[in-house]
Amino acid sequence: MLRSDDPHNSPSAHHAGGDQSAKAALDFEALFSAVPGRLLVLSPDLHILTASDAYCRVTMRRRQDLAGRSVFEAFPDDNPENPEPEGAAALQASLKRVLETKQPDAMPVVRYDLALPDERGGDFVERYWRSTNTPILGPDGEVRYILHSAEDVTAQVLLSATTAKQEQERALMRRITDNAPVAISYLNRDLVYEWVNPRHAATFGLSVDQFIGKTLRDVYGEEGEANIRALMQGVLDTGQPYAAIGFPFHATVDGKSRLTYWDFTYQPVISHGEVVGVLPLAQEVSERVEQERLQAQYIRNLEAADQHKDQFLGILSHELRTPLNAIQGFGSVLADGLVGELTPRQAGYMEKILDSSDALLELVDDLLDMSRVQAGKVVLDRHRVQVAPLIAKVLTTVSGKVAEKGQALLDHVPAALPELDADPRRLYQIVDNLVTNAIKYTPEGGTITVTACVEGANLRVEVADTGIGVPPDERARIFEAFTQVDMSSTRTRGGVGLGLSIVKGLVDAHGGKVGVESRGEGRGSIFWFTLPLDR
Ligand code: ADP
Repeated sequence: MLRSDDPHNSPSAHHAGGDQSAKAALDFEALFSAVPGRLLVLSPDLHILTASDAYCRVTMRRRQDLAGRSVFEAFPDDNPENPEPEGAAALQASLKRVLETKQPDAMPVVRYDLALPDERGGDFVERYWRSTNTPILGPDGEVRYILHSAEDVTAQVLLSATTAKQEQERALMRRITDNAPVAISYLNRDLVYEWVNPRHAATFGLSVDQFIGKTLRDVYGEEGEANIRALMQGVLDTGQPYAAIGFPFHATVDGKSRLTYWDFTYQPVISHGEVVGVLPLAQEVSERVEQERLQAQYIRNLEAADQHKDQFLGILSHELRTPLNAIQGFGSVLADGLVGELTPRQAGYMEKILDSSDALLELVDDLLDMSRVQAGKVVLDRHRVQVAPLIAKVLTTVSGKVAEKGQALLDHVPAALPELDADPRRLYQIVDNLVTNAIKYTPEGGTITVTACVEGANLRVEVADTGIGVPPDERARIFEAFTQVDMSSTRTRGGVGLGLSIVKGLVDAHGGKVGVESRGEGRGSIFWFTLPLDR
């Protein structure tokens, strides 16, 4: 601790005792000013008595502008850009301690921004200080001066803040790349590995360190290298990224080689407008590829099964037709009494046998048609066809059934319609199917109306009924094979759900369209189809 027993020791001329001879011998003021430390001498009421040259330089002040002012007035600490100023308060506290304890006080590093003098714009600059306050006691043992020594540590503080931030960023990047489920690597222009993440290294059964400095040949071998080198070289040459999906690759997993699949991109790394390296990013998609493979296999199996089913149905129907034809042929001979008169009872049974074999034959024909339709094997025997008489013929054939149900059958087809280029037998089948359905799904006493008109380049035929209708969500489905709206209600009406799928197949084969409109359940349906007038 300094002691100023000798009043001549005073650091300031203003307060000096005034013995000129002693001063001449040793110029304390000049000496004090020149000491290399950044020193400030304060009075016990915290006014500035003097400052060293170094202090004036670092605070950008002139000695005469400081002398006599309160230290806090000379150095305000209210930089509006520093939300939590702490410098002035810390200095005040330290000075208070010095006055109370009469002991030197070392302050921790604090931010105390420096107000620039007015001639320098009066703004604040960010500053950090490490200061010590030392009391200088008079002969009475009271504090006479406080020597404030300040070290500007701004550069160190800011530098360590930046390095800490960089360190933090680096640690974060590392955490991200260490944990990313993506294999990331970086190769320089010579296609030598400069950096890889653990996921990348693990794919080859290597550690990250083992990877650095490796060439493509080291990693992929002579054969594997060529393709990859060409792709990466392309990225280096063009600066354009390259992407691949589901790329097969033999990865090393637990020391064993396993076929894996990867989505990856080779990203060019550009610095100052030049491509300096390649950044491959790869994600393993083996699971997805395996799933796709299974799915494709499943679809192939389904298609094969479907084909087998069609073949089976085709063969079966064909094989059923022959014995059925025999039943019908010989049955008719019996029924017609050609080999002897039948009793009425026998004739009755015979009729039932023939009816049943008719129904069976119809079903077999439907199955045959359906298998042809589904195999795309419908062969059309096209002719010029007059539509009105063809429809009239269908209506005549069904008139018996219509009469049985007490229904009305209205033929609103205009006589003068352009001719169609179509297979008349198939066209008959289409109309017959729709009209038969209309009769089947319309209660007794209902009405069935058939109309036709030219609509653009097509002929449109409509079969409208006042029957049970088709719910909206069933309208597309009923054209699929074996589909019936509600088994319980349609079972009683017979059929297996093939008619409409055959109709659709036949209309499609003619290049037309088919559909249904309905105002809802119980409010009738309109089944329609269009066929192109000119092929
Ligand atoms: P099937 O009549 O032998 O059941 P279809 O393929 O001809 O088979 O018809 C499929 C289903 O479409 C029928 O089961 C029935 O539910 C519905 N459907 C067909 N025509 C009509 C109609 N005119 N009115 C109401 N529903 C119909």
